Amino acid sequence: MTDLLSLSNLRTQFRTERGAVRAVDGIDLDIEPGETVGLVGESGSGKSVTALSAMDLIDDPGEIVDGRVTFRSAGLAGRLLDEFDRGLVAYPFELIDAVYAIADDLRAREGVRDAPRELRGIADDLDNRADPAGLGSALRASADDLDGRTDPEAVGVSLASAVDDATDGFVYVDDSARARLNDGADPGALAIDEGVIDVTAAPEEAVRRIRGGEMGMIFQDPMTSLNPAVTVGEQIAESLRLHRHGGQKSDNWRNGIREILPKIGGRSGDEEVMAEVVEMLREVGIPEAQARLDDYPHEFSGGMRQRVLIAIALACQPSLLIADEPTTALDVTIQAQILDLIDDLQSDLGMSVLMITHDLGVVAETCDRVAVMYAGEIVEEGPVEEIFHNPSHPYTYTLLESVPTEEKERLTPIEGNVPDLIDMPDGCHFAPRCPWAEAECREGEIPELQHGPADADHRSKCIHESFDKTAYGTDGVAAATDTEIGDPLVEVEGMRKYYEQDDGVLDRVVGGGNPSVRAVDGIDLDVHEGETLGLVGESGCGKSTAGRAILHLDPPTDGRVVFAGEDLGGLSKSELRERRKDVQMVFQDPMSSLDPRMTAGQTIMEPLKIHGLAKGGRRQRVFELMESVGLERGQYDRYPHELSGGQRQRVGIARALAVDPDFIVADEPVSALDVSVQAQIINLLEDLQEEFGLTYLFIAHDLSVVRHISDRVAVMYLGEIAEVAETETLFDDPKHPYTRALLSAIPDPDPLASTGDRTILKGDVPSPIDPPSGCRFRTRCPSVIPPADLDIDQERYREVMFYRQRVEAGDVDLNAIAADAEAAVDATRAVADGGDHAALFEQFFDGPLTGEARDAVARSFDLVAQKRWDDARGVLRETFESVCECDRPSLSDDDHPVSCHLYTDKQ
Ligand code: SF4
Ligand code: SF4
Repeated sequence: MTDLLSLSNLRTQFRTERGAVRAVDGIDLDIEPGETVGLVGESGSGKSVTALSAMDLIDDPGEIVDGRVTFRSAGLAGRLLDEFDRGLVAYPFELIDAVYAIADDLRAREGVRDAPRELRGIADDLDNRADPAGLGSALRASADDLDGRTDPEAVGVSLASAVDDATDGFVYVDDSARARLNDGADPGALAIDEGVIDVTAAPEEAVRRIRGGEMGMIFQDPMTSLNPAVTVGEQIAESLRLHRHGGQKSDNWRNGIREILPKIGGRSGDEEVMAEVVEMLREVGIPEAQARLDDYPHEFSGGMRQRVLIAIALACQPSLLIADEPTTALDVTIQAQILDLIDDLQSDLGMSVLMITHDLGVVAETCDRVAVMYAGEIVEEGPVEEIFHNPSHPYTYTLLESVPTEEKERLTPIEGNVPDLIDMPDGCHFAPRCPWAEAECREGEIPELQHGPADADHRSKCIHESFDKTAYGTDGVAAATDTEIGDPLVEVEGMRKYYEQDDGVLDRVVGGGNPSVRAVDGIDLDVHEGETLGLVGESGCGKSTAGRAILHLDPPTDGRVVFAGEDLGGLSKSELRERRKDVQMVFQDPMSSLDPRMTAGQTIMEPLKIHGLAKGGRRQRVFELMESVGLERGQYDRYPHELSGGQRQRVGIARALAVDPDFIVADEPVSALDVSVQAQIINLLEDLQEEFGLTYLFIAHDLSVVRHISDRVAVMYLGEIAEVAETETLFDDPKHPYTRALLSAIPDPDPLASTGDRTILKGDVPSPIDPPSGCRFRTRCPSVIPPADLDIDQERYREVMFYRQRVEAGDVDLNAIAADAEAAVDATRAVADGGDHAALFEQFFDGPLTGEARDAVARSFDLVAQKRWDDARGVLRETFESVCECDRPSLSDDDHPVSCHLYTDKQ
């Protein structure tokens, strides 16, 4: 065996009043060195609990009740033996592993016929080795018991306990090292070729050496994982000190996690550690790392914070990185940056990655092998191409069928819900939802069958060799017919929404105040009757603000919103209240948008009461609404916490429908849902549109979902509309460079799809307080247009513009750049000496700059070295200012409006 991490028959349970929650229920999973393994499945399938179990981070009331986690590392084995007196196991790992495997099989009543022979074979092997605990006789006794027809399960239990007794250490080493250790060799000075640590048998202190040292972990939300009160540099340094420089920490579950995410109170200042910190920040792509050491997490953008978290996880050069939904909270553009970074680091450092995600596109792009989890079990495992192109377990197949793709007219969600993990169905846990279930699926152990080519190691836990996929998804669900699209129902003209920043007391007294946040800055949009208009863009581009302003939930600062011919801005409060019946909103997170003290029925009934509708028949009306959104009457009295995510979203939709609206703004209505539930809600929204003639503004960051549901799509960037087009036109022929970058960042749920021509946008959306002049996208635009009279190629010009942005912000630290320059060229001295600025040019440009462009940049280097920032800015502006910077483009007036100078005659 060469696996780095191995989970064998792992079972993790949580005690509750109702019984044990079997979150992880007997899984086997191996990760080889350098390999990326994806763990996928719906929420509640046990993915994250598996990761926490692998790191031995399960806290009360949870517990690993059975199975083993082993980790292979000869270096770590030596260090642990040096530190822990009773760590060494007196037997070879492979031998003990084989006995445990037989015991596990016997407990499952498997392999009973072969077990006596195998046990005697191992016992014979032990005759030629040291056997201090007399394990050989225990094995022979078990073999005799089996021959004597003792219950195999009982033999399995006693066998496992005999091995437990014989192996009271937790570190296994190769035969030669073990012999020398038994002869009294010093473990710290001994060369160990092979070492395996049994993480589940190790004392907590030893496990803490492994976590963060050999295993790094990154989480979904970097802001909550980082300590806001400690500088970024200190947080990474703390991790390094703890694991590489022998620090100590007190013990509990949270500190276990925080070992990787250090907290306040560390020592600071030792140069060796800080030099390593700078190196790590550089590796994860944080420019001028030296200068950012003293920044706090809030001074970093979301993507940069995730980079910091990766730096913390990698600070100790782990051989395994466990990434639990590492990009779920990020925009698709930033996700592409982070996945690229993990991929680069993996090839550089040769580490393995366990990638836990619900995003099948991310899996297809990043993983070598995939394990699909359902209700605490791994139901299918195999190479990534096999899983996506030859899914052999009905759950994997139906999960993939739920993903919106270009070809699918209608999505096919998986029927039903994930089972209650306390009271799981007998036999195959997927049987109640499986379209191919048969009587034999509902009892006994389900076999694991091999699929695909002989060398593929593709296994599926299902009775079927194959199943008929042709009928799936065509039964009972008529494809939604297209609703007829009419005249504009909503007309938005020049709409702005500015927010004043909260002024300080002094500002309020003396006036002045802070500049406004220009969340939406002059947008024009029409939404036609019966149409779904998708509104997309990164976080912070103003989508949700625009949605609320259109509905006048938060009235616009300027501009007009005309609904059904009536200017909403001209209505009195009571008239607007009356109009609200016709315009409704559905929110992203049904849990936080529903009142936890109100039942589903009360929530749906509330707008009927507010608007005085359905008097005398409200309960009946609520039942009708519940039926139209697929809720059962029995759920009327349920509180939000008693409903699943999908059911809560159905309550939110039923509530919006209660007043019989014409127009619904759906703000990220499916982004908090699993892919299968997402498919149910998308189908529901389409059906309701058909049934009630609804018009939707569908706000989302998931472009695959938008593509599926929208008739037209508008792309927003920093408070403006960049492009609007029919859905097909936009996806087939995107014009705006921002749209092109967004589309190219979408992970493709096909491992064979090429990502070679992907545009990875640099940086983040700028602040809407002080947006860039001219085209707002110019600070990131890969196609930014050079001045007509300057001889420079476009790629170099883009780099000059990145450099200019740094000079504009006064954010060029020549000392840090000198430290960054590998050849240790002293950039400051080179400038002062009138040198050729080689290090600086190398730092900012990937290719040669020539002529006027080079001269101007060289002059700016000299000025920056003298700290004459304004002069440097002036030199650069004079030479490089272009149309993209001076002129704000407006939407073209044609069938495919786009706001970019590439399509105007100004370039
Ligand atoms: S074992 Fe039966 S119920 Fe389970 S996935 Fe296979 S066919 Fe479906
Ligand atoms: S106007 Fe210039 S900067 Fe803006 S998107 Fe077009 S090319 Fe890019």
